[in-house]
Amino acid sequence: MKKHVVLYKQLSPALMERLQAHAEATFIDDPKRDDFARLRAALPDAQGLLGASIKLDATLLDLAPQLEAIATVSVGVDNYDIEDLDRRGIALCNTPDVLTETTADTGFALIMATARRVVELANMVRSGDWKQNIGAAHFGSDVHGKTLGIIGMGRIGEALAQRGHFGFGMPVLYHSHSAKPAVEARFNAGYRSLEALLREADFVCLTVPLTAETEGLIGKEQLALMRPQSILINIARGKVVDEQALIEALQSGRIRGAGLDVFEREPLATDSPLLRLKNVVATPHMGSATHETREAMARCAVDNLISVLKGERPTNLVNPKGWEAQR
Ligand code: NAP
Repeated sequence: MKKHVVLYKQLSPALMERLQAHAEATFIDDPKRDDFARLRAALPDAQGLLGASIKLDATLLDLAPQLEAIATVSVGVDNYDIEDLDRRGIALCNTPDVLTETTADTGFALIMATARRVVELANMVRSGDWKQNIGAAHFGSDVHGKTLGIIGMGRIGEALAQRGHFGFGMPVLYHSHSAKPAVEARFNAGYRSLEALLREADFVCLTVPLTAETEGLIGKEQLALMRPQSILINIARGKVVDEQALIEALQSGRIRGAGLDVFEREPLATDSPLLRLKNVVATPHMGSATHETREAMARCAVDNLISVLKGERPTNLVNPKGWEAQR
């Protein structure tokens, strides 16, 4: 008999067919708006779950005693309590690698848009306020040749370094748990303490996962170390930054600007002070949001899920203990 999976992310017809060759699938459209009622109702029969952006807490998992696998369509796993999944014998799989380059592209789009004031000036043209040649009041700052600081030199951090070093001639500094000799050799990059990086970089880019250790990593104290002309780019998770401290730093001109793809609460409230600041470029958590990459992520999640349901170790297993516990 085929196993039962619950999807809370729409799949393309091709991927749905691939999944249905191995499992019965129930699709639940936007469970957030549904207040989880339909998701709750589907959980008791589910052996697999596939989706993203929902916090699957203990109350929901208690409703799913048969659950073997969760395939999240994301690389970040901050929505999950890994130890709890281990105890329950549920394998968690994510989608690394396939989104790395696209997310780094988004990081660079934010660097360019913030430094060169692209959104602000494009809006000026659109609203009919471009009446004469622009002057110094509308000038931005250079990107090429400026110092790129990367906090979290993992897959996405490295793809950012590649763009900065080879494409824009930027000196690269980084901070991570451990030094990366191969990265240093490839990009002529320098390892720095967090504090030294904040003092030296023109662009401070966050590419760490959200963990107990990185929550609030950038707060008032850290923002105070940044150069007045520097720009903060967050393509990691909103909670890595103390948003109120950032708002104050931007309002007071302590730093030049911020390019933000992620926020403490998403969607960002329409009355957020961030949206009233001209030196902020805010995007709707679109790091991996291209047709090609989202399809590749969904394919990766489907393949991970099929592997677990077939009793095979999935390629992108986050918690080996959870997998072992169900054997
Ligand atoms: P990754 O390869 O695991 O890289 C993360 C890096 O962060 C690792 O190299 C790690 O350093 C470093 N790190 C972890 N904790 C740290 C700390 N406390 N201080 C300094 N460095 C720390 O992950 P990835 O694939 O690059 O993805 C990174 C994150 O980006 C994801 O977890 C996700 O939250 C976010 N993301 C966002 C979007 C978006 O749509 N905006 C899209 C994709 C990913 P070591 O190697 O030294 O341990």
